Amino acid sequence: MLERKVRVRFAPSPTGALHIGGVRTALYNYLFARQHGGDLIFRIEDTDSNRFVPGAEEYILESFNWLGIKFDEGVSFGGDFGPYRQSERKQIYNKYVQLLIEKRSAYLAFDTPDELEAKRAEVSNFQYDASTRMDMINSLTLSDEQVEAFIAEGRQYVVRYKVKPDEDVHVHDLIRGEVVINSSVLDDKVLYKSVDQLPTYHLANIVDDHLMEISHVIRGEEWLPSAPLHVLLYRAFGWEDSMPLFAHLPLLLKPEGNGKLSKRDGDRLGFPVFPLQWNDPKTGEISSGYREEGYLPEAVINFLALLGWNPGNEKEIMSMQELIDLFDLARCSKAGAKFDYKKAMWFNHQYIQQKDNKAIAQLFIPILKEHRVEVPFEKVVMVIDMMKERVSFVKELWEVCGFFFIAPTEYDEKTIKKRWKEDSAKCLTELAGVLADIDDFSIENQEKVVMDWIEEKEYHTGNIMNAFRLALVGEGKGPHMFDISWFLGKEETLSRIKRAVEILK
Ligand code: GLU
Repeated sequence: MLERKVRVRFAPSPTGALHIGGVRTALYNYLFARQHGGDLIFRIEDTDSNRFVPGAEEYILESFNWLGIKFDEGVSFGGDFGPYRQSERKQIYNKYVQLLIEKRSAYLAFDTPDELEAKRAEVSNFQYDASTRMDMINSLTLSDEQVEAFIAEGRQYVVRYKVKPDEDVHVHDLIRGEVVINSSVLDDKVLYKSVDQLPTYHLANIVDDHLMEISHVIRGEEWLPSAPLHVLLYRAFGWEDSMPLFAHLPLLLKPEGNGKLSKRDGDRLGFPVFPLQWNDPKTGEISSGYREEGYLPEAVINFLALLGWNPGNEKEIMSMQELIDLFDLARCSKAGAKFDYKKAMWFNHQYIQQKDNKAIAQLFIPILKEHRVEVPFEKVVMVIDMMKERVSFVKELWEVCGFFFIAPTEYDEKTIKKRWKEDSAKCLTELAGVLADIDDFSIENQEKVVMDWIEEKEYHTGNIMNAFRLALVGEGKGPHMFDISWFLGKEETLSRIKRAVEILK
């Protein structure tokens, strides 16, 4: 048999912001497709019109654009298997629903919501299946004439899949191995609703995977319970030979405690669960996103890649290309992956260190503008070079290096108490004189001249340097002293010393 071309899909329902777990699913599909020279398809599963949220589709596309996950086909990308939006494929599904009815694999059910409710009240744990369907109002219990009359009257109906009881259904899963479910636990799932003339998720999903020649279905574990029905549907259509291989990815778990990661965990512990900020059009609620929180897309990708998969060694920092080369469904875990958001921060820190200083400077400039700082670009790059190892986010840079750009006007009380001595004003005035006489204001030369002066005067190096730092920075932090004075230049350095002496005496 010929190796099948790898074709995978990411098939979200546009019901709101894309959850970070969905991003991981899309990423794994992307890595798998790229590794095998296959296609990744973007399909919109919007057959449940009640849950449709305007803007969700655009949001999802923008998220992948930001993250660098590229699709080969699908909504907004085009391709030969379209349309890729399920709401535009009504005719196609109608044909296949009819086919299942003709094959007697599915039937029409006319039970109203009230009638179903009454049944549920009457029979505990009621399930529409082989044990109950013959007591219900459907095309199995009505005559053909009655069914036609009902339809002619305009009664609404659903089409249900007729599950044959007590049969073992085997789902071959590349991560979980063989999963066997007895069909008796399955209910006769609704495949189609006459009221909106639309199929449900199950039917549309299978028909599309078949028609779009999907080779592998890689999706979240929450879809595993649907898989036996999907296998049965493939069989009912006679498509066993082209059935895709399944891979159900492990759940993302709460950072602490047990259970599935939820938006509430993010709100409580202060991390986003969405790739981009999401403004909910219904509630008006604004939820934070990784992009707006200052994460680099490369860091988010690397972090997500390792939630449920590892390369089999200790390697953690991997570029998209390395991930493509190393990814392996067989190395995905069955057990849920704890969502360690602190690790996400760690990755961001690593990627900030790796990133070109000029690129970080570009990201920092808007923040400088907010503080009304305008300095030559090279100066910003120099500061980034000195300070980036101290931050995990670009937005933290101002806090640690604002003093390079704006002279202190106040001095930290605690530092004054600890570091400003009796003779500090006198010593700093002298130091200013020494610095004023230096022609070569390079880091090395300043250091040499100042150290010689300290030695000659038998001053205490620590005391001088602490006071010097307080004068230039306003507090006790910052990099090497002469890096600071060199960056500020002679004039600015002298003026800051003068001001500190005046204010602190
Ligand atoms: N529409 C489903 C979702 O929202 C697709 C599940 C699948 O991949 O089969 O995730």
